[in-house]
Amino acid sequence: MTEPASRLPRDHRTIWQQITAKLQDELPRQSYLTWFKPIEPLSFDDNKLTLRIPSQFYYDWIESHYRKILHNAVADAFGKDIELSYIIDSKRTSDYYDEKPDASEERRITALPSYPGSAANKTHLNPRYRFSNFIEGDCNRFARAASMALSEAPGKTPFNPLLVYGGSGLGKTHLIQAIGNHAIENGYARKVCYVTSEQFTSDFIKGIQLNQKDSFSRIYRNVDLLLLDDVQFFMAKEKTQEEFFHTFNFLHHSGKQLVFSSDRSPRELEGLDERLLSRLQWGLVTELRKPDFETRLAIIKNLSEEDGMVLSDDVAHFLAMHMTDNIRILQSALIHLLAQSSLIGRHISIELARDVVKKLHNQPARSISVEHIQEIVSKEFDIPSDLLRSKTRKREVTQARQIAMFLTIEFTKLTLKAIGLHFGGRDHATVIHARNFVSKVIESDPGKAERINNIRKRLELASF
Ligand code: ADP
Ligand code: MG
Repeated sequence: MTEPASRLPRDHRTIWQQITAKLQDELPRQSYLTWFKPIEPLSFDDNKLTLRIPSQFYYDWIESHYRKILHNAVADAFGKDIELSYIIDSKRTSDYYDEKPDASEERRITALPSYPGSAANKTHLNPRYRFSNFIEGDCNRFARAASMALSEAPGKTPFNPLLVYGGSGLGKTHLIQAIGNHAIENGYARKVCYVTSEQFTSDFIKGIQLNQKDSFSRIYRNVDLLLLDDVQFFMAKEKTQEEFFHTFNFLHHSGKQLVFSSDRSPRELEGLDERLLSRLQWGLVTELRKPDFETRLAIIKNLSEEDGMVLSDDVAHFLAMHMTDNIRILQSALIHLLAQSSLIGRHISIELARDVVKKLHNQPARSISVEHIQEIVSKEFDIPSDLLRSKTRKREVTQARQIAMFLTIEFTKLTLKAIGLHFGGRDHATVIHARNFVSKVIESDPGKAERINNIRKRLELASF
């Protein structure tokens, strides 16, 4: 840390060191580094300590989260109550982030295109996702109609925000991106941004690390239509939620349109801040359900036509009968079928379809969802599945939870960290522990091993 150009007398500077030492003791390291290290003591007169901070955002954050801790640390160090005042000065405090001394706020903003956290600078829309190829059925009619309506009048319908929820592979990403494509191509919105809540989170963290928090906020606040996918990843990420909360308020207040997707109903979004959760439900909440037989059939026909594949009605019916839960897997069956038929030059017959279906049955589909695993494990242990996501440490629950975590590692591509979040916000060390523990149990207890194997078989079947 460079010596601050402080007007603080030397003994008061020692006091400031005492204050920061105390804060370091009391706060998690990352919080201290993010919020307090950049602070610089400036002057002390009339029982008033003036601190220099990088931005308004710091002020808001410190006041709302650390006010008490900071005031106490200051009072302790001085041995009496001290008034705190702040001066916002982005230029000076940027020294702490190893920027060149002449770095100014302006320069950092114009440098934005290279700012790695600029996901919001692009629309990130996949042109393949359109309303025209989003097949309508009872399972999605309402969600589709509302999406279409709002994309033609963003911010001007009662559907603001729109929250679409539903299981994996049921079309959430397709639908919310269709909103963006339709709006932008027909001139209903100018600036559209599609982003997953994971991308938003990593942008936000980078923004703070690079001391470009303001630029970050500005970019996100500059859009007409914000499409935020998989909002469930915000669970247990308090700071990101807080930031997103402000982004939401800003956009909503300015009449901009917000659209969200979630893989579970708002009721099940535990770990999401109450205020944010309530805002997500201000407009319209609608579910994408599993497609019925007719919709599955229509999707199969549409997809096969798009791929230039000739399917007989028999084969289409067969596939629609056997693939009921997940449109993504249904698509992968079609792709397998196409690949098989072109590889061995075979006509796409029912037999070939049966082979493909069987093959897919025998290999665990990688896209099985955590919820599904939790559901099947909790049925096996006869406990409500939400206990797996709760804090309880009751023995039966802990055991079932560890097995569910173990199987989630096996059946999904989720990171250990993400798995922890799906199990009530646990950290990745807990997930590793579960994996090691269950592996040992499988080796040492044949009864339990068989039980786990049975669950595994059920998952393999259900995953198709
Ligand atoms: P989710 O985001 O809910 O997990 P996706 O939107 O990624 O699901 O959908 C999975 C796949 O299924 C995508 O390729 C998508 O195009 C397709 N799909 C989903 N719903 C429909 C539908 N109603 N009509 C046509 N294709 C669909
Ligand atoms: Mg998706």
